[in-house]
This record gives sequence, C-alpha cells and structure tokens, in this order.
Amino acid sequence: MAAQSSVNVAQSAFVCQLCDHNKVEWKCEECGIFLCSTCKEKIHPRLKSSEKHRIVSIQDIWKNIEPWNYGKMTRVEADTLLKKYNHMGDGAFLVRESRTLTGNYILSILIKDETVHLRIHTKEESGQLKYDFNGNLFDSLDNYIEFLKHGTHIFVFGVSDKAISLTKPIPK
Ligand SMILES: [Zn+2]
Ligand SMILES: [Zn+2]
Repeated sequence: MAAQSSVNVAQSAFVCQLCDHNKVEWKCEECGIFLCSTCKEKIHPRLKSSEKHRIVSIQDIWKNIEPWNYGKMTRVEADTLLKKYNHMGDGAFLVRESRTLTGNYILSILIKDETVHLRIHTKEESGQLKYDFNGNLFDSLDNYIEFLKHGTHIFVFGVSDKAISLTKPIPK
C-alpha cells in the first residue's frame, strides 16, 4: 500500500539523494528529491529555477501522513504509550501493525482508563483490499478511521456500557 510505504520511508533515517551521505532533512516538492541540510543550502540552489521550488521539512511530511499510524508496534508498547496519554480520555487511539503478522493492523484505543486492542479486519472484494468494520467496507485505513471518528460505533463489552467514537490520535 502506498500510504504505508511512505510512512516507512519517512520514519527511517535514509540518506540524501544528492550527496548520498548525510541524513535526509528536507524534500523538494518540485524535484521530488530528499535532501540533507547541507545540500539544501549549497547544492540545490544551483539547480535550474530552483528559487521557485518549495522545500518542506521531513518532520512535517511525517506528521501529516496518517498521524495515527505508528507502524510496527507490539501490544505492550501500545499499552505503555496509551497509558502515558490516559488524560486524553475515551476514544484516544493509534493504529499499529502487528509485529508478528505483517499487514495486520490493530486499532488500540483508550476506553475507561483501559487499553483495548481491536483487530482491523480486511477482506478482498473484486480484487481490492477493503478494511471491514462490522460489515462496513472501506478502501483505506484513513476512511475506516474517519468513519469511526464520526459516529459512536465502538462498543467493547465489559469495558464501557455505551458505544464510543474515536477522538484524537496519540500525538507523535
Ligand atoms: Zn546531501
Ligand atoms: Zn528542487
């Protein structure tokens, strides 16, 4: 999936495409290349009409892509992180990928001071991967999350006596 791979790219400390050496800190939207700070200052300005190029920080790119997506993370790591943000209350959440089962996503949510982990079910429909929430099918995790933010769909028996919606992602 394109969205997931871009998260992985932003997460890893990969090297500048101009010098092949320093850590990437910027991306030029026009050139479509990732740059270190040195090349941003010294090399990129020498490129043709580069003064009009938009250069964005890699941190901003990473924050804006699926802010709730934490990539691969264990249940214990998710518990620890959610507990730390317990003050955010019911519905604060994150999405993680199973460490043991690649491609399996789990929604980890705070409900009544507890952490709840819900497996995100998928299903193939006419060759397309869909994310399934109780029979509601979504093309992307983003649409799946949006649906759960805009309605009280999550009911976890034994944890809360009423259904809740997702609120805010745990900040990165
Ligand atoms: Zn460089
Ligand atoms: Zn450029």
